[in-house]
Amino acid sequence: MSLLPIEKGADNPILRRKAAKVPEVTKAIKKLIKGMRETVKAEDGAGLAAPQVGQSLQLCLALVEGKMTVLINPEITWRSEETATEEEGCLSLPGIQVAVTRPAAIAVKYLNENGLPEERKLSDFSARTAQHETDHLKGVLLVDYLTPPPQRDPEQTQEARHEAA
Ligand code: ZN
Repeated sequence: MSLLPIEKGADNPILRRKAAKVPEVTKAIKKLIKGMRETVKAEDGAGLAAPQVGQSLQLCLALVEGKMTVLINPEITWRSEETATEEEGCLSLPGIQVAVTRPAAIAVKYLNENGLPEERKLSDFSARTAQHETDHLKGVLLVDYLTPPPQRDPEQTQEARHEAA
């Protein structure tokens, strides 16, 4: 099986779209999972979401407790109040590292690769990876966590002052 090409870029439409639910774990879905497994292994990634390989489907792989785990139609059902901030990278945004603050623990409900429902509580790295991957299914990328720099257009500032005055 050849590796799947990875979609890249913060403005890439397939990465920005909300992915569609997987109605059924068909043979085609299993084949996609196999290709994604091989690709994430070759790229040495901690996870991979279907939109990253050009499929706008709610399906992702995430390294959970040391095991690459398939999450289909994942839904985060609980988030801890405690948060943690760590630098994250993304196979779709090479060379970019962003410090992201996320709940330190979550519960996630999903279908496994056999189409059976599961719900697990995850913490630390596993919780972070699962949240990064489920973000991909909503069209959210790391760059969305960057704080925008303050407006420094002097003309705008003057106009704003004039209006305020
Ligand atoms: Zn990513």
